[in-house]
Amino acid sequence: MASKRAALALLMVAPAFGASYRFGALWDGGKLWKDVCLATQGARIQSVGPCSGASVDLSRYTAIPGLIDAHTHLTYILDNPVSQAGRSEAVVFLSQENARKTLETGVTTVRNLGAADYADIAMRDLINKGLMLGPRMFVSGYGLQISRGRTPSPATADGVAEVLRVVRQQIAAGADWVKMYGSTGSGRDVTGFETYTFDEMKAAVDAAHALGKRIAIHSYGPEGARDAVRAGTDSLEHATDMDDATIAEMVRRKTFYVPTIDHNRYYADNYVKLNYPKEAVADLNAFVQRNLETARKAFRAGVRFAMGSDAV
Ligand SMILES: [Zn+2]
Repeated sequence: MASKRAALALLMVAPAFGASYRFGALWDGGKLWKDVCLATQGARIQSVGPCSGASVDLSRYTAIPGLIDAHTHLTYILDNPVSQAGRSEAVVFLSQENARKTLETGVTTVRNLGAADYADIAMRDLINKGLMLGPRMFVSGYGLQISRGRTPSPATADGVAEVLRVVRQQIAAGADWVKMYGSTGSGRDVTGFETYTFDEMKAAVDAAHALGKRIAIHSYGPEGARDAVRAGTDSLEHATDMDDATIAEMVRRKTFYVPTIDHNRYYADNYVKLNYPKEAVADLNAFVQRNLETARKAFRAGVRFAMGSDAV
């Protein structure tokens, strides 16, 4: 493991001058190369081909392109030791470890869908400037939510006018994508009640598109998914139990489906650590089965998929 990390780190801090790395095999996304050399110039791959001259020997390894995780929450920290003022500032610092671990799994790009206090924007900019180690980040700022019994947050938006304002605020703050929670369901809660109306979703989609941004709509259940797809969301997150008409519409519109199946398995396996009651495990496992079944149906129908872990 240590040597694997060393190899990865080597590529991440590739010297400004040219360097060559010899791999036992390399998959370039289309073709598998054997005993091959990868030459870099600064942070860029210059060429892949037969070896000639000196190279760093990584022939025990297979190289693959950087992976893309289309649904992350790198700023979700389970144990923030700062309890009062300064808590949100500490999040950016503490999230560095998530960024580093993500990179070590081979993920070099993430789409981070929801963060408080614009910690995601700070991380993206620090990483882009080479001041923090982590994957390239596309970020959304706050994910839009309806009022749900809590004190309103900068993410709260009810009605078309507020939806327009909050979408525009995220983009003004520097968001690359807009995130909207179109249903209940998160963590141990696997309910999927639709939260936003079709009109509110359509307003969010149109406001994002008008400013050249794309939008991801979260829905655990089929009603939110149906309206998100019809409203023109660019990607649909999680959704289970989608009907055939919604799936057909996703194919027609080329909507990306990010089923994020594995995070609920993770929650079930780690319910003690996450402070979930034992009863939550059965609900989470049942959701995973419905999630898998919906993904199979969508795959057979020809829906476009993107891999999202929903890692927290
Ligand atoms: Zn998520």
